Amino acid sequence: MNRTAEPLVVVDHLCKSFEDGEVLNNVSLTIREGDLVSVIGPSGCGKSTFLRCLNCLEIMDSGSLTVCGLTLTRTGQEKGYDRRTLDTAHEIRKEVGMVFQSFTLFPHKTVLENVMLAPRVVKGEPPEQAEDNAVRLLKKVGLGDFIRRYPSTLSGGQTQRAAIARALAMNPRVMLYDEPTSALDPELVGEVLQVMRDLDGEGMTQIIVTHEMRFARDASDYIVFMDRGEIVELDDGDVLFTSPKNDRTREFLRHLV
Ligand code: ADP
Ligand code: MG
Repeated sequence: MNRTAEPLVVVDHLCKSFEDGEVLNNVSLTIREGDLVSVIGPSGCGKSTFLRCLNCLEIMDSGSLTVCGLTLTRTGQEKGYDRRTLDTAHEIRKEVGMVFQSFTLFPHKTVLENVMLAPRVVKGEPPEQAEDNAVRLLKKVGLGDFIRRYPSTLSGGQTQRAAIARALAMNPRVMLYDEPTSALDPELVGEVLQVMRDLDGEGMTQIIVTHEMRFARDASDYIVFMDRGEIVELDDGDVLFTSPKNDRTREFLRHLV
């Protein structure tokens, strides 16, 4: 754990409801630069919604969120979203890359074109610069020989690695992954997890919702256990898996084996 590093993401009393009721209830969490944090918990407990709030794909109802020094604060009394909120959400989104369980690449573009697209269109990067960067990132995720391929010719593991390269192409300070290996055949899981380990070695800040308990335990600086919209427990993997303090954590871990 990078206890001396700067907090890069600070979540304070974040609440979020949908029509059917509250999904996140007073979630607070500080993530430091270079941390690799795994988020675990039962289906429907709010993990995806939490990640989507960090990325401002959803805007919380109340609480505050600071990402890379950009702070969004809401009291829960606001009607709709004012310009400042939307602008801050937009700025935060630029700092955060996200990879989904099965968010396919654009099928009619090559792997290289997929990775170049957002830097070209959103940032207006010159083609040579976008291409050089995309090639570098695709080599980094082990796809140097696949840049001219079309997505339909890739395995699931290769597709997810390309999706990671595509997110990295926007030069995020934080990477979020929502069950990035859940849709993969078991033999392809390791190659995707290895990319996250490599990025961790380079100091990338990463938050991963995962069911890969071995990875969570071995690779994470710490693990967050969520249940029913709350962070129930947060600890080093070895501590959380061997001596969880909370009954709900114990119950969840008991059902894994
Ligand atoms: P998890 O990722 O832990 O499985 P989710 O964050 O996807 O949990 O969902 C938590 C709860 O919020 C679920 O009850 C889900 O039905 C509800 N939910 C998630 N997104 C929406 C949405 N856009 N509209 C309404 N309800 C939602
Ligand atoms: Mg989910």
